[in-house]
Amino acid sequence: MKIAITGGKGGTGKSMVATSLAVKFAKNSKTALLDVDVECPNDHLLLSVKRKEFTKIYQPIPKWDFDKCTKCGKCAAVCKQNAVVFVKDKYPAFVKDICIGCKACIVACPQNAIFETKKEIGTIYIGRNYNVGLISGELKLGELASGEVVAEVRKYFEEINKKLKAEIILIDSAAGIGCPVIASLIGTDYIVAVTEPTPSALHDLKRVLYLAKHFQIKHGIVINKYDLAKQFCLKIEGFAKENNIAIIGRIPYKKDFVDSTIKMKPVTEINPDYQKLFQKIIEQINLAIK
Ligand code: SF4
Ligand code: SF4
Repeated sequence: MKIAITGGKGGTGKSMVATSLAVKFAKNSKTALLDVDVECPNDHLLLSVKRKEFTKIYQPIPKWDFDKCTKCGKCAAVCKQNAVVFVKDKYPAFVKDICIGCKACIVACPQNAIFETKKEIGTIYIGRNYNVGLISGELKLGELASGEVVAEVRKYFEEINKKLKAEIILIDSAAGIGCPVIASLIGTDYIVAVTEPTPSALHDLKRVLYLAKHFQIKHGIVINKYDLAKQFCLKIEGFAKENNIAIIGRIPYKKDFVDSTIKMKPVTEINPDYQKLFQKIIEQINLAIK
């Protein structure tokens, strides 16, 4: 069973929900947590996991052989990223940082003057704590290909899971609705959309649930800090009712969650009372997937 944890807006508590669910699931089932918030992964901090490098991630990039180049400019014309700059009668200039490795320039060159090489774009780390197998993807500083790193983490996970044999796979996505989020949601059985009672969170929640609907993935909403603005919580509940979306959890705003982050321990270990809350969320997910 693959469950994505997302929500649109950043800072709503996705990682807290993902790690708490992982620890709770791991009490009864072999569980893996994929941290694919690759620009700023921090599930390893929330679970006190000492990560070990598993592999580097590379992206194909082009390299020019100017001995063969006739300065026709076709490679620049096909590059949608504008990563190839061409000035008449000059050799093309390559802006490596914005290349996405699509290889269109290689195909377009009539002189076979461009060949493929690679650049490092990220790292995959692994680790374990609370019986949760953690796979954590991290984008190299300054690189843009976060969607590719997410896709690579998911690809390598298939290999890692031959050993782990996890039955429950949780995928903690980045905020937003872009390429890295789509790469996190694809192929999942259920989406947990974590939100908070604020106008911006509801706005972003609607956008991410549009994706869930588009990909026909079952989904439910967890309202974090629901007691901070009860009036606005009613608005989220109204939206859920109108669209026939289940509210599968309501998490209160308590100091325990701050303690959990500072002490680098899941909130269920800080205060066992939260076990019931996350168990209920799991029951709702199980019910929806059956
Ligand atoms: S591989 Fe694609 S993005 Fe990179 S330079 Fe070539 S055409 Fe542009
Ligand atoms: S398409 Fe090939 S030959 Fe033409 S400018 Fe680019 S590298 Fe040179």
